[in-house]
Amino acid sequence: MKLSDTIQTIHGVGEELTKKFRHVGIETIDDLIYYLPRRYDDYSDITSISQLKPGQASIEATITNAKGRYVRRGMHITEAIANDTSGSVRLIWFNQPYRATAIKPGTTYFISGEFALRRQHFSMQNPSIETASDFPVHTARIVPIYRETKGLTSTQIRKAIRVCLSIIRALPESLPASIVTKQNLISRSKALEELHFLSDENMFALARRRYGFEEIFELTLAALLNKYELMQETSVAISFDKKLAVSFVSKLPFQLTDDQRKSVWQIYQDMQKTQPMNRLLEGDVGSGKTIVAVMAAIMAMKQGFQVALMAPTEILARQHADTVRDMLRSLDLEHEVVLLLGSTKPAQKSRIQKKIADGSVRFMIGTHALIAEKVDMHNLGLIIIDEQHRFGVEQRKKLQAKAGHMPHVLHMSATPIPRSLALTLYGELDISILGSSPAGRKPIITEICSPNSRKQLYAKIDSELEEGRQMFVVCPLIADSDAQTVSSAETVYETLRAKDFKHRRVGLLHGKMKPDQKDAVMRKFLSHELDILVSTTVIEVGVHAPNASIMLIESAERFGLAQAHQLRGRVGRAEHQGYCYLMISDSKAPSRRLRALAQMTDGFALAELDLELRGPGSMYGTLQHGALDLRVASLADTKLIAAARNSAQAFIDSGEDLLHYKHLNQHVQERRAITNLN
Ligand code: ADP
Ligand code: MG
Repeated sequence: MKLSDTIQTIHGVGEELTKKFRHVGIETIDDLIYYLPRRYDDYSDITSISQLKPGQASIEATITNAKGRYVRRGMHITEAIANDTSGSVRLIWFNQPYRATAIKPGTTYFISGEFALRRQHFSMQNPSIETASDFPVHTARIVPIYRETKGLTSTQIRKAIRVCLSIIRALPESLPASIVTKQNLISRSKALEELHFLSDENMFALARRRYGFEEIFELTLAALLNKYELMQETSVAISFDKKLAVSFVSKLPFQLTDDQRKSVWQIYQDMQKTQPMNRLLEGDVGSGKTIVAVMAAIMAMKQGFQVALMAPTEILARQHADTVRDMLRSLDLEHEVVLLLGSTKPAQKSRIQKKIADGSVRFMIGTHALIAEKVDMHNLGLIIIDEQHRFGVEQRKKLQAKAGHMPHVLHMSATPIPRSLALTLYGELDISILGSSPAGRKPIITEICSPNSRKQLYAKIDSELEEGRQMFVVCPLIADSDAQTVSSAETVYETLRAKDFKHRRVGLLHGKMKPDQKDAVMRKFLSHELDILVSTTVIEVGVHAPNASIMLIESAERFGLAQAHQLRGRVGRAEHQGYCYLMISDSKAPSRRLRALAQMTDGFALAELDLELRGPGSMYGTLQHGALDLRVASLADTKLIAAARNSAQAFIDSGEDLLHYKHLNQHVQERRAITNLN
């Protein structure tokens, strides 16, 4: 057996099982052995039968009197007696008719399961059993429980991995030996064996540390290599024109915050170099990122370069076009702005493309398709990317081929991530942070509400709507489901439309709608043809609805802190006082998370708290399981992260060739190619 073999080569894994494994993304032995347990059940203590206490237990015993029978249609029971030197206990299995014949008399078994009262007698119900040995897999040990789906059980997964144990044990070391020694890491093979077949908690910590280290090490290597490769490239030097900056700022209707000033300065410094800029501008919703980006843009435009701004959706691209035109008016540059969307009519599209190609416009705004469009941006100096897409070396090279140089890139993100974490996750980027919100903005009034105060709340809301304001209502689900007691967008929409707000104009928006339908509803809301918009979380980050002053979050306990905070940022963006109502599903005391949200407005502080309260797997859930694929590393483990990052830097500084480490190199190259962080 080789790692690249399909799992069907594993003894005991047939065609049927192979299909089931495919459902969870497992095709090869390599996939299988890296399918890590979700949790563990501790059955490691073996008790003598006379000492059994109610609860989960393991015994070592022979089994007699195994008999199966149907008690009624569709209900089969197998009963047997387990005996050790201290006594005997009844075993019962439901609907497992194969049990009786599988049990061999005279064999000693490990038996693990629930010891409990049933019909006035204690018995072990549905226990797992296996022949006693030095290396049990399903019983008498800390048993791994995997994510189970579509008829694939943990027992089947365990069995298959057990067959591959020899492969796991023969895995070569993937990290440089010097690092393994220096960092006191256990070997890759030992760590992987322990993650499946755990000996004790101590080993669990060591195994996790080993893999966590490896993940951060790979991530950092990938980032550094990308960074160094980019530094070899040439861009255009965009010199700093002090007069231009001063005159632009002097015409703004407000003062820049210190963080904005500092970020602009950092960007100007970057753009003056012939090395391409690769900077992340991180700031909470409403922190004023756009003006910083526009200040970068004017420097490029005034020196004859083109600028491209890419937004994640067409609505956002349109809004950016409006704001950017407004901002450029004071310099008479507003006519330089063109909007190029997938939905732009062909004739108009080709007109715009021609203008771009002959250099008569200098600021292109669109979605990420802007780059894909066959637009000849021959003098592109700066790319601005709104939200979470990593613009990789490859994409840049395509533009370089057209322009003859690599453009500078500025990324903007509204996800407030603590700086230490951002450095790890976005290691190839330089980072500027807008930590403080512009002065004079009224903080959004946030209140936790329980269902029995709904009537009063609606009355209060209605008087705001009467004043001409608008409201977002966000629900965790699209439609009602039996299992859930939380509010769904469809139900809430129906009730508001037909009952509580039947005198208002109510709209519905959710992710299952077609893009142009969504677009139409959103535009209706923006043009105030709707008073209330009921939606799921699809309303985008950054969408600017200045007249919306109320955000009502239904079943607020279901949202992560970071997400709820992002939603709150959709309102209170203009002169009107903003309100955020956190409606909880029942009248229980609100969680500490919700109370924190009601009290705090600083996204960075909330992000730190979320990390502390729920662990990194929640708020950063998408990062953990998404593109970056950190399965083991805890982002809260700052010591481990620092050690792994320093080791990666030292490895690069040592000049050692990554190609000597086949497995490591492969992982690093995969990580280098990731371009989408969502
Ligand atoms: P972000 O993109 O970071 O969410 P925006 O750039 O859309 O935020 O800015 C939000 C609003 O704040 C805009 O109306 C903008 O004009 C305004 N704004 C930006 N900077 C300042 C400032 N220093 N003082 C007052 N208002 C500002
Ligand atoms: Mg924005």
